[in-house]
Amino acid sequence: MSEYRFDPLHQTWALVAQERSGRPADFRAVSRVRADRDCPFCLGFESETPPEILRLGQRDYSDLRAGAADVPAVSSPRPLRFTAADLGQAKEPWWVRVVPNRYPAVKQASRGRRSSAGDVCIASSVAREHACELAAVGPAVGRHEVVIESPRHCGRVTEADPAILPLMFAAYRSRLAEFAADGRLAYASVFKNVGPEAGASLEHLHSQIVALPMVPPHVETTWHAAWEHRRRERTCMTCQLIEQEISAGVRVVAETEGLVAWCPFASRFAYEVCIAPKNHSAQFRSVDDAGLLELASLVRRVLGRIEQDIRQPQYNLVLQTAPFSGDVEEALHWRLEILPRTAKAAGFEWGTQCFINAVAPEMAADFYREGLSDPVSSSDSAACDAEFR
Ligand SMILES: [Zn+2]
Ligand SMILES: [Zn+2]
Repeated sequence: MSEYRFDPLHQTWALVAQERSGRPADFRAVSRVRADRDCPFCLGFESETPPEILRLGQRDYSDLRAGAADVPAVSSPRPLRFTAADLGQAKEPWWVRVVPNRYPAVKQASRGRRSSAGDVCIASSVAREHACELAAVGPAVGRHEVVIESPRHCGRVTEADPAILPLMFAAYRSRLAEFAADGRLAYASVFKNVGPEAGASLEHLHSQIVALPMVPPHVETTWHAAWEHRRRERTCMTCQLIEQEISAGVRVVAETEGLVAWCPFASRFAYEVCIAPKNHSAQFRSVDDAGLLELASLVRRVLGRIEQDIRQPQYNLVLQTAPFSGDVEEALHWRLEILPRTAKAAGFEWGTQCFINAVAPEMAADFYREGLSDPVSSSDSAACDAEFR
């Protein structure tokens, strides 16, 4: 059984999850693996994963587009086509699936076991209470799910059909809404690891969602800073920051009607990018269909620059959204962080939480602006259509 363990020295929680040591790792090979027939995430191998929680496909994409008639199509996605050989054992094609992680860091509690013996309510206030104890511990209850983002084996977002990315964000939205309604969960971490240096153990495009019964201290610290700023300045810190960045312009990578992408002033990683809505919004689960399409288009453009122009790109994509409850709506503002892993965090970073970044964010923004693809382009779609035919 995995456990949450609280470290009073660092004021952090660790998840001790020994079961995860048995998970597969196709990155043991030096070269990129395209072993469709050995990959549990490929179309036709659905029985290799735990039973599916959510499945999205052509109809869901059409619904998304119908709900966002005002958003111009980024490309002209045509239906992904599948031959009988593609389908294998699959009864019908899918574009995105959500399944429980076979090697979960946290496990779902049986329904109805609420607040018993510190089982699911290890709130951050409890962490503070336990700060003077040397061994605060609780069962690692929560949810750990995998979002499989392509029916075909590919390791880069820009290799997959552009119609799939909005469905990945739709899957995030759907799962976050369910976790928020659960009542026993406090926070969810949504992230994507691309490349072994970024922590990916399987090449096939996927993200992970880990829902926790407590708000991690790091998140709570930023929450308090944002809340204090809101109380003092009567405005959201992120809204103010976005206004300043747009006005200065020097670190802005791209703007759309509702979103802005910029290289943060104090970027921890070279080529780090932050994407956030221009209008205040605390919860990612409240983004509408048009917002998901707009976000997918912008993310694809930014990742296109990374995947095409940084040698062996490896990166983490991290969604920072507000905790499920509490006084968060006015002070917190969701954002998506893209963190390229061009250098390894080492002793200094681990010892100080201060990151050494060799590329000034102003230079990084230049890099992105110089090569960002045209948002209204059909070339991606044509390439993908050939791939899936
Ligand atoms: Zn695969
Ligand atoms: Zn805001």
